[in-house]
Amino acid sequence: MGRSSKDKRDIYYRLAKEEGWRARSAFKLLQLDLEFNLFTGVSRAVDLCAAPGSWSQVLSRKLRREEVKIVAVDLQAMAPLPGVTQIQGDITKVSTAQEIIRHFEGQPADLVVCDGAPDVTGLHDVDEYIQAQLLLAALNITTHVLKPGGTFVAKIFRGKDVTLLYSQLKIFFSGVTCAKPRSSRNSSIEAFVVCQNYSPPDGYVPNMSNPLLDHSYDVDFNQLEGPNRVIVPFLACGDLSAFDSDRTYPLELNADKPYQYTPPTQPPIRPPYQQACHLRKNNLLSREDAPSNQSQEEADPPDE
Ligand code: SAM
Repeated sequence: MGRSSKDKRDIYYRLAKEEGWRARSAFKLLQLDLEFNLFTGVSRAVDLCAAPGSWSQVLSRKLRREEVKIVAVDLQAMAPLPGVTQIQGDITKVSTAQEIIRHFEGQPADLVVCDGAPDVTGLHDVDEYIQAQLLLAALNITTHVLKPGGTFVAKIFRGKDVTLLYSQLKIFFSGVTCAKPRSSRNSSIEAFVVCQNYSPPDGYVPNMSNPLLDHSYDVDFNQLEGPNRVIVPFLACGDLSAFDSDRTYPLELNADKPYQYTPPTQPPIRPPYQQACHLRKNNLLSREDAPSNQSQEEADPPDE
């Protein structure tokens, strides 16, 4: 029997622990690479919204050459990774773009990947809108750092306004494909856009406050017609023999190999729920003197 019920929940979660990935998302990037050969000829790569760092792990394992530079950006702190420079910053800030370029000594990146996700509210329209804004912010910072001909890969929610996003991406990339790796659950509206051959319009000047970050969604963009309505190819990617992320597998995948619990590769650093777990474990939630009278240091459990 597994030590945690989560062990039974998802095959990629378990495989990630067995193979030493910090998160199951690693398999999404690996399966996208199988289809699109993302890493060929890449010597400067940027991982936007990188924490806890499984995509950065993939980059550092796949781009194992001396001259390779990898920069990872996230709002949250991330445990160090060999060969990866970390920036704790916001991808909507021009200062973050400048810091990335500084790490590349003025050279543009060959590849930008972004698995960014805001905290999900459960209100689907709101979640789709915020995810779209985050994707546009990622595209915006990408226009500052990517070389012409470079590739941009980003998480997208295939909601009802997705056509507008495709149209915006097509302005900057000649090839835009929407891809769904086997490790991304069918039940989720998550997919990934693989945007190839960065070719901004003539005279385009990257600008963080440009109208790409559109705040007036007052048109039904699904009504876009004629040349404005962009339909991009959709590709289910990953070998058909790969595990199905929506299926439940037995704990013993292989009869010769008994199941063994594997702890997480990298537990999150100071996750927002840490204090709540501590208060609950120590029966402090209902005590009047518990949260408000305690300093943050007293309330936080020691690092594990
Ligand atoms: N790709 C990561 C991996 O494989 O470990 C997982 C990324 S996680 C799904 C989404 C991340 O997006 C979170 O760590 C969150 O902090 C980050 N994020 C959200 N908004 C951001 C922003 N404006 N700037 C930087 N990071 C952001």
